[in-house]
Amino acid sequence: MHQNIDQVLDIDQIRVVIDHLYDGVYVVQNDMKVIYWNSGMEKLTGYTKLEMSGRCCCEKSLIFGFGDCPGRCLCKRALKQLNFEEFEGIVRHKSGFRIPVIIRTLPLFDSNGKIIGAAEIFKDLSPAHRAQKKIEDLERIALRDTLTSLVNRRYLEWEINNRLLDLKQFGRSVGLVFMDIDHFKHINDSYGHTIGDLTLRQFADIARKNLRPSDTLGRWGGEEFVALILDLQINELMSLAERCRNTISKSFFGSDTVKFNLTVSLGVTQATETDTIESLVSRADALMYKSKRNGRNIMTAG
Ligand code: GH3
Ligand code: MG
Ligand code: MG
Repeated sequence: MHQNIDQVLDIDQIRVVIDHLYDGVYVVQNDMKVIYWNSGMEKLTGYTKLEMSGRCCCEKSLIFGFGDCPGRCLCKRALKQLNFEEFEGIVRHKSGFRIPVIIRTLPLFDSNGKIIGAAEIFKDLSPAHRAQKKIEDLERIALRDTLTSLVNRRYLEWEINNRLLDLKQFGRSVGLVFMDIDHFKHINDSYGHTIGDLTLRQFADIARKNLRPSDTLGRWGGEEFVALILDLQINELMSLAERCRNTISKSFFGSDTVKFNLTVSLGVTQATETDTIESLVSRADALMYKSKRNGRNIMTAG
């Protein structure tokens, strides 16, 4: 027959187990004085068992992700609750730095159901935060255009490929808008490369704001941009592209000292089930060139 843990292990042995948890655990009595502080808590906060024993954790302002401690003390809260609760917060290490944590608080009851204290369990979120930040950094390096902060061509190609698969599998429509700024060379020649760069950033900003949040706008290269637009009929797609062209033509570009207008030529098309990324992009590109040939500042669909 199986035995219960308390028939096999005494409190010291259970303490050894809890001491080996990765998490920080401490227990307070109703007077909020610490009666247990495990090794995980020592590691997390830098405060030793000896330092904390008999002290109130608020004395050290350990947790300040919740505003005033002890005004909004988690222990006090736990001592009034019947169930455990979970929060995200910040712990301040003895050396001063901050650590993101997830905290569980739970009231502890005696055999008569009376609250006799509370326990708090801390999980260090910094490894997860660091991993998340690393992913974001790598994504930025690999998939973002550094000048405009839009996604780059590599990302666009990946995204277009995925959306073409969606079209074949689920029939989700995929629209593509190819944009090429008109006479951009003239802007560089007239105002210099720095203003040219600024203009590209301003262009990206305006175009982005004229699309829907779900649309993907990226820099294809140089002064060429591609927007990937899902779930629209061709006439709706044309209206969106036309609105973008119109806003660009009415916007001012440049710096505080030099201001100018510019225009953009667009090619708009919708993918068919037999399209590849090459056939789709080259059709949009050819339509954009048709806009150029017809006088620029034009949207051509096909
Ligand atoms: P069109 O109306 O036929 O498109 O004329 P255009 O002058 O825009 O076209 P062209 O391809 O002749 O010139 C594009 C220019 O864009 C040339 C290049 O120096 C400039 N360019 C490309 N990338 C950048 C960049 O990152 N910054 C700046 N400032 N200029 C760039
Ligand atoms: Mg070009
Ligand atoms: Mg151009």
